[in-house]
Amino acid sequence: LGGSRAAVGLRSKSTGLPDVKERTLIAVKPDGVQRRFIGQIIQRFEQRGFKLVGLKMLQASEDLLSQHYSELRTKPFYPRLLKYMSSGPVVVMVWEGHKVVQTSRTMVGHTNPAEALAGTIRGDFSFHVSRNVIHASDSEEGAQREIQLWFKGRELLNWDCCDQSLTLA
Ligand code: ADP
Repeated sequence: LGGSRAAVGLRSKSTGLPDVKERTLIAVKPDGVQRRFIGQIIQRFEQRGFKLVGLKMLQASEDLLSQHYSELRTKPFYPRLLKYMSSGPVVVMVWEGHKVVQTSRTMVGHTNPAEALAGTIRGDFSFHVSRNVIHASDSEEGAQREIQLWFKGRELLNWDCCDQSLTLA
């Protein structure tokens, strides 16, 4: 979707902020679902001002997970990672907004919860790297690859906020 090239200079009518259609993939991992964090995680992205354009719950297949984590396949923890990620359903989402990839990484916090700052999602909800609750794409290119992997085009919805289409009777 053009990432940082998109819509530079355009301003949202409602907020006056740069209106960039950058997208990222966020996943609530199986431990996040099991520990009932879906709502709190969604709330953080909504209150930050991002727009939810795709959402589904699924049991990820080994094939999907091996593609998602293909860059980590030589790591010693890779087999455990795939077992963890297939240990229950995940909730995958696509969020849209200005610098959403970078901002999401900041919101999610360090990979290792021991180093994640309080106030970040991992810093507030997790204590071990093998159960760190949430995934966020780490670059615009990675986000595009992951969104295509997890979602079909028709599963992503474009919508406008009601305050931009208000007609007074
Ligand atoms: P991030 O998820 O922060 O982008 P990585 O891409 O490096 O981090 O790793 C992917 C996932 O693999 C991590 O979120 C974590 O669940 C798992 N992981 C990373 N390092 C380790 C480790 N040393 N031991 C166990 N699991 C790990």
